[in-house]
Amino acid sequence: MAKPAVVIDQEYLKHLPGDSHPERPERIQVQLELANDLDKRKFQLTSPKAATRADVEKTHGADHVRLVESTSAVNRYALDGDTITCRDSFGVSLLAVGGFLTLLDAIAAKESPNGFALVRPPGHHALRNRAMGFCLFNSMAIGAEYLKRAYGAKKILIMDWDVHHGNGTQDAFYDDPTVLFISTHQFPFYPGSGAVNEVGVAAGAGYTINVPLPAGCADAEYLQVFQDIVVPAATKFQPEWILVSAGFDPHRRDPLGGMGVTEQGFGTMARSLLALANQFADGRIAFLHEGGYDLAGLRNSVAAVLAEMQDPQPHPVGRLPLAESKIAPLIGRVLQVHENYR
Ligand SMILES: [Zn+2]
Repeated sequence: MAKPAVVIDQEYLKHLPGDSHPERPERIQVQLELANDLDKRKFQLTSPKAATRADVEKTHGADHVRLVESTSAVNRYALDGDTITCRDSFGVSLLAVGGFLTLLDAIAAKESPNGFALVRPPGHHALRNRAMGFCLFNSMAIGAEYLKRAYGAKKILIMDWDVHHGNGTQDAFYDDPTVLFISTHQFPFYPGSGAVNEVGVAAGAGYTINVPLPAGCADAEYLQVFQDIVVPAATKFQPEWILVSAGFDPHRRDPLGGMGVTEQGFGTMARSLLALANQFADGRIAFLHEGGYDLAGLRNSVAAVLAEMQDPQPHPVGRLPLAESKIAPLIGRVLQVHENYR
């Protein structure tokens, strides 16, 4: 039977943004150890192929690609205040994008029903012509474009649960009705975007759904958002593919995020999306490693998601008991704004 794919490589250790930088090689070291411990009867470990320049330039301007490439010539270069490269960063970034494309190919070919690309650096802040927020190339956006081009995908759901708003991904598909982008993120917070009224433009109006959460949200609040917003929106959209920008910085121990999500919470969110994938997308769902800066929280949360991915019949998720929901008004506002696009 086809097994979930786990894409990872030692090469991802080689991007060095600086000794005190939170987006550090240890984030992949813990995933290499996790991958090593996985039962190989249950998971298919897969090596990434590097993305081509042509793949990357479907999403990014050639000038931006050349700028990132040029950083290979110097020991250190600051693309922005917190996006620092070393000589290997361009190559590692192409391999990060390529890791996601490798996973999408494996799922499209039914070699694996689903999978997780455990790559770095992350990508969801990267804009068409600008690196930002630790991100050089937007692997998620490039991946969704690739599905449209290579496999004729016409309905792709991107769920971004990283604690930061996925501004680069939102930008890439803001006028595009073939990609439904849903983001849960802490707000107000870096990078500043992701308000409820950012809903898309032109033909894409209504195909961007932002759920800007106050700090302090934990499993119960996230699951309420999934049940009240994500599941109904996905059910209406009926995606052919589900792609997940899986950042683990909403974890309760994360040093950058201010949320309270547990390992089990991430597992339950994954199960909810796996059930949607089974219902609408012939099971096709691909997870992409974005943020997450507490090493134990990161590793254990990825393990919780991988455990759910083995289940061929994930059952839909109910809500957790919540005495009083502090986010009920926010959920009401999101639903009300999106009423106009039904
Ligand atoms: Zn993040």
